[in-house]
Amino acid sequence: MIQLQKKIVFSALLIFALFNAQTQTKTSKYFYIEDADWALVDQSKTGYTQESFLKLADNTCEIICNYLKSSTNINRFSNKIRIKFERHNPNLISTNRYYNGVIYISSDGFNDGVSALTHEMTHAILSNGNMNSFSEGLAIIIESMLFPYSQKNTLFNAYFHGNVHRKLNVVWRHNFSLDRIKTIFLGDIINYYASFEIQSFFEYLIETYGIEKFLDYFDTSGYSVYSTYHCSEDQLIMDWIIYVKSIEPDLVWLHNWDDVKYFFGE
Ligand SMILES: [Zn+2]
Repeated sequence: MIQLQKKIVFSALLIFALFNAQTQTKTSKYFYIEDADWALVDQSKTGYTQESFLKLADNTCEIICNYLKSSTNINRFSNKIRIKFERHNPNLISTNRYYNGVIYISSDGFNDGVSALTHEMTHAILSNGNMNSFSEGLAIIIESMLFPYSQKNTLFNAYFHGNVHRKLNVVWRHNFSLDRIKTIFLGDIINYYASFEIQSFFEYLIETYGIEKFLDYFDTSGYSVYSTYHCSEDQLIMDWIIYVKSIEPDLVWLHNWDDVKYFFGE
């Protein structure tokens, strides 16, 4: 009998605890943030409230969707995407087969939180689309397009921001592989060098021929490189290589190659 009473009391306590643990969230058009997650963000440093951050997330999402046109369908997600802040964790997006998405953002150094969100959001938008295999290159391009200037002037930020072609000019002085470059059209990103090259190559194509042609080829099936760009894949790649090799190198990278090469896993 005492045992049963204990069980009843315990069950009551459990129900009470579960009821109280019910999470408080704020939602926007595409996203939601739990209050407990937002509490990890040092609001005094960021200048954002939970609401203004969610509004910014919605706006950024629509800018990316507009830029990438039909390739994107944020509405494929069954529910709103959760933005979850965590300490000491890398930024990433995870989705499951029911199209529930969570974007994890590191709450440390939140100054970079918005550009990290842009990057991960691009992955979310491209997931399961034709351009998914080019997702990393495009995520870096869109991140640096919307957030070209960083408040922190460190070598690490120099990796993401500034002119990618000038940096690649330096990289190729140390490490150039035509075989690696030729995997670009397969959407294979075999290492950090390849992800850097794909960023430069895509930026070059968009700068030279426009985003419309880029999406015509990379986001649709049935368009050949020849019908879109009026030349072969090899020719496109050669034109880009000649361009990158002809421009001025990035001086920070040129003079700090020993530091920079760590980002490439060397
Ligand atoms: Zn990424």
